[in-house]
Amino acid sequence: RAKSEGRNNYAFYTESLTKESIEHLKLQSALYGALEQNALYLMYQPKLDLVSRKTIGVEALLRWNDPVLGQISPGVFIPVAEKIGLIYDIGLWVLETACLQGVRWLAEGKPFGRIAVNVAGQQLQRSSFVEDVKRILAETGLPATCLELEVTESVMMHNPDTAIRDLKLLGDLGIELSVDDFGTGYSSLNYLKKLPIHKLKIDQSFVRDIPFDTNNTAIAKAVIALGHALKLEIVAEGVETQEQAEFLTQNLCDQAQGYLFSRPLLPADVEAFLAKT
Ligand code: C2E
Ligand code: MG
Ligand code: MG
Ligand code: MG
Repeated sequence: RAKSEGRNNYAFYTESLTKESIEHLKLQSALYGALEQNALYLMYQPKLDLVSRKTIGVEALLRWNDPVLGQISPGVFIPVAEKIGLIYDIGLWVLETACLQGVRWLAEGKPFGRIAVNVAGQQLQRSSFVEDVKRILAETGLPATCLELEVTESVMMHNPDTAIRDLKLLGDLGIELSVDDFGTGYSSLNYLKKLPIHKLKIDQSFVRDIPFDTNNTAIAKAVIALGHALKLEIVAEGVETQEQAEFLTQNLCDQAQGYLFSRPLLPADVEAFLAKT
């Protein structure tokens, strides 16, 4: 019986794998066309200062609406873009689009603080990345002091020395640097102390159910203490409830982002949000 069950499981498994790989192939080929077909766009999620509750920046979040496949989440297509080598070009498009949006808001007198752009590990690994960022800032006219780049701990996985050097060059331009999803990746305190960064973003998995989940509560407090000891600002991600916001404020977390304050918004809705915060 065990044997036949095992065989059935096996058959089921291969079948679903095949379905999955077909879906994956469809995604891959659609993604190649996404840039030219204008199927990509950005939404922006406000980040607030926890004491003043004012907006201090927005994070650009990539969206893909494929004419055939529909809306696909970045959690699904970013890893595909990384796998097929499209993340570099997509990343440049995101950076340029976000910078242009920032320039437009500045020209319209709508101060948004900084625009944060997510940077995949593979982007920073490319030797042209720093020059590309400089060029895009120059071409769009966005001041470097209006830009923030979010990197994950994975940037340290390959050539940490080069990553540190390039981040330092970017920081010297006036760009603010954050470690995204802090605590979920390739963390080594030895690297953390060497990274020329300004902020840590506590991953939303550790923000969930605080102050009721005792483990997450302990981790959130410890990350805030560690970050502050290293003279870094702390941002909490995925803040959905008043309880979370209150706890984080009392425990001196600097900034927060989450559905409690605002979902990611289209530019016009960001403008309305800025006008009321
Ligand atoms: P991330 O950079 O950590 O972004 C935060 C994610 O949490 C976003 O998901 C955001 O919509 C979601 N979020 C914000 N507030 C809440 C909340 O209160 N509750 C919950 N449950 N979720 C919240 P999104 O937009 O689906 O993006 C997922 C991930 O995809 C991002 O995580 C980032 O790693 C990646 N990503 C998005 N855009 C880009 C991009 O332009 N380039 C790169 N390389 N990665 C991107
Ligand atoms: Mg991010
Ligand atoms: Mg994150
Ligand atoms: Mg994340």
